[in-house]
Amino acid sequence: MRLRNVPGAREMIIESDYSIQNPQEYKGKWSQEFENDHPIHIEVGMGKGKFILEMAKRNPQINYIGIEKYSSVLVRAIEKTEDFEGDNLRLIRMDAEDIENVFDHGEVDRIYLNFSDPWPKDRHAKRRLTSTRFLERYDHILATDGYVMFKTDNRELFDFSLEQVKEAGWILKDYTYDLHNSEYNEGNVMTEYEEKFSAKGNPICRLSAYRHRLEDSCI
Ligand code: SAM
Repeated sequence: MRLRNVPGAREMIIESDYSIQNPQEYKGKWSQEFENDHPIHIEVGMGKGKFILEMAKRNPQINYIGIEKYSSVLVRAIEKTEDFEGDNLRLIRMDAEDIENVFDHGEVDRIYLNFSDPWPKDRHAKRRLTSTRFLERYDHILATDGYVMFKTDNRELFDFSLEQVKEAGWILKDYTYDLHNSEYNEGNVMTEYEEKFSAKGNPICRLSAYRHRLEDSCI
C-alpha cells in the first residue's frame, strides 16, 4: 500500500506524541521509553493502523509498536490516534529490513504480520515478510517464548509461509485456513485489509509460530 503524497504528513509525524524519530536510538531501551516492563508486541507493515490501535485500547498492560514503511501511510495511523489516550502505543516509519537495529535480542514478545505484501514474483520472495530471511531477523529480536502471528487471505503466500516456518526450523503453534469460522476467532481484531477481503467472502488464513521448541528452553 502506498498512498499519494499527503500534504503536511512530515510535520504531523514529527509532532505526534506517538511517533518515534530515530528509532535506532531506542534499541534495548524500549522499556525505558514506555516507563514499564510490560511485554512488547509489534506489528510489521501496520498500514493505516486500525489493528494496532484497537489492540492498544483493549490491552493497556501490553506495549504496542507499529512499523510502517511509508510516511504517507503512517500518517493515516497517526490521524487515528487523535482520540486515543493510552500511553502503550508507539509508531515508527521504517523498513522492516532494519528491525535488528531497532530492537535488541529478546526485546520483543510478539510480532504481528497482517496481510503482508505478497511479492508474487519468485525473484522477490526474499522481500516477503514471512520469508526465512525475515524469520532470521525476528529470531534475533524475539523473546524465548515469543512468537510470530501471521494473517492473510492470500493462500499462496500462506502456503509459502508455512513452508518457510518449517525451513527455518521454527515450530507451528497453530494454524487455520478459515480463521473466522475457527476456534481461534475469539478476540480476533480485524485489520483494514481483513475487513475488506472477508467482506468479499475470502477466507482468512492465520498461523502462529515459535522460533524453537519451548521445552528446549529454560522457561
Ligand atoms: N496490516 C495492514 C492491514 O492488514 O490492513 C496493512 C496491509 S498492507 C497490504 C501491507 C503494509 O505493509 C503496507 O502499508 C506496506 O507499506 C507495509 N510494508 C510492506 N513492506 C514493509 C517493510 N519492509 N517494512 C515496513 N512496512 C512494510
